[in-house]
Amino acid sequence: MPQIDGRSSSQDLADLFGSHEGDLAIGGIPLTNLAEQFGTPLYVYDAERIRGAYRHLSETVAGLAGIYYSIKANPNPAIAHVLVEEGAGLEIASAAEYIAARAAGAQPKRILFAGPGKRPDELAYVIERGIGEIHLESHEEIARVAAIGQGLGVEVPVALRINPSATAQGGAMRMGGKPSPFGFDEEGLEAVIDVVSAHPSLRLAGIHLFVGTQILDADVLAGQWAHGLRLAVRAAQHLGRPLDTIDLGGGLGIPYFQGETALDLQRLGERIQDLRTFVRNQPLIRDAAVVIEPGRFLVGPAGLYAGQVLASKISRGTRFLVIDGGMHHHLAASGNLGQVIKRDYPVVAATSRGRETSPCIVVGPLCTPLDTLARQAMLPDLRAGELVAILQSGAYGLTASPIGFLSHPSPAEVLVDGGRISLIRARGSFEAPITLPGGGGQGSHVG
Ligand SMILES: *Cc1c(COP(=O)(O)O)cnc(C)c1O
Repeated sequence: MPQIDGRSSSQDLADLFGSHEGDLAIGGIPLTNLAEQFGTPLYVYDAERIRGAYRHLSETVAGLAGIYYSIKANPNPAIAHVLVEEGAGLEIASAAEYIAARAAGAQPKRILFAGPGKRPDELAYVIERGIGEIHLESHEEIARVAAIGQGLGVEVPVALRINPSATAQGGAMRMGGKPSPFGFDEEGLEAVIDVVSAHPSLRLAGIHLFVGTQILDADVLAGQWAHGLRLAVRAAQHLGRPLDTIDLGGGLGIPYFQGETALDLQRLGERIQDLRTFVRNQPLIRDAAVVIEPGRFLVGPAGLYAGQVLASKISRGTRFLVIDGGMHHHLAASGNLGQVIKRDYPVVAATSRGRETSPCIVVGPLCTPLDTLARQAMLPDLRAGELVAILQSGAYGLTASPIGFLSHPSPAEVLVDGGRISLIRARGSFEAPITLPGGGGQGSHVG
């Protein structure tokens, strides 16, 4: 697995997409061809790499857990469809994501609905149409879902989202223990189980934990999952019957920055042998369907964001490349999506073979210094019209960005699958709102 360490490792990550006569290529198709066909800026995803990540992870957790793709990482139905075809369920956090999940081909019972604030009309929408499980995160939500179930005369499968208490994992405190708007505090688990159990229209199927994102340490992850399984036993003991489901959450990381290494799946596989044994020896969770719900890990490395150089200029000795793509499409790469320290995503030129590189700053077209995509890039002497690609961009890209800021059109999204190229979102089409068909009143206009 590539280690990100300066230019050469950005190049290593680019090589994972492949090359054509030395130029960056996705599924064998040169990026320059895609840019000519669809224009820039542009998101490109490689279906084979999405499948590869799913299969590798699925083998690693086999015998312990199934995989639900957390669709907020990249909600394009064509992307989710690749994973549904592989056998993944989908985890959603809004009614519009339910529509995307159905468009991707997911069966209702293979969809989980989480999120700290689900509107009543969204809850009714998914319950009427069928849902695998709703993850309850507040007392209001318990009452709302129970009332909707009662009104429709159905028993709604639900799970309790638990906000875990602090537990040290090999010195790494990654287990929550802080105040959180998500779910119920672990300390009150038994009391909230009693509240849910008192509603005849709710079927308490299991528990759900999601502790942290972008975890690159297999031991930390396995430690969190172990904690989740112990909590599941505790919940089942109080409930007095076995659990149907245990959702251990997502959070599997990918390398972005200098010095980061990929999550070691072999190590993770070794660590979860003990978890399999634990589950087998616990009658109350032995038959439960255990799931994990990664987003970033499955789709992040499979995507890139490409922009075209508009200007190359020197200001007081520093080289700036101004490209046509920016933070309005890729907020995370600009370091403004919650990052504490702004560090560069891996950046490469589409055509770099045999060219010398030198430091430069890559900026977007927006009139704000926030629109900086790379501060210490090593790129060739690129001219107007040449392409720059930001790698590791398949997750938390377009839909995690302020698309309306400065009113540029949204970029096209293209999926490459072997030699097949599909336009999966046309340029400018993001501005068209999605309306819930037959959806409830206020707020049913989602976009
Ligand atoms: C965002 C989210 C995920 C996915 O997180 P990743 O870090 O992308 O794996 C999983 N579950 C829930 C409930 C989430 O909100």
